[in-house]
Amino acid sequence: MPTYSYQCQVCRKSFSLQMTIAKHDKARTKCPKCGSRNVQQSITSFVAVTSKKS
Ligand SMILES: [Zn+2]
Repeated sequence: MPTYSYQCQVCRKSFSLQMTIAKHDKARTKCPKCGSRNVQQSITSFVAVTSKKS
């Protein structure tokens, strides 16, 4: 499961969340500190996610 890193643009808190890609697509990420949705996602290097299409 990839980890997504974010930084809140309001209070500058950095945080990271683990979630599936499918969940990430739908997620409305909020800052855990101030509750703002004005968060910026950082690039996270996650290891070799192989997309298997059966
Ligand atoms: Zn915040």
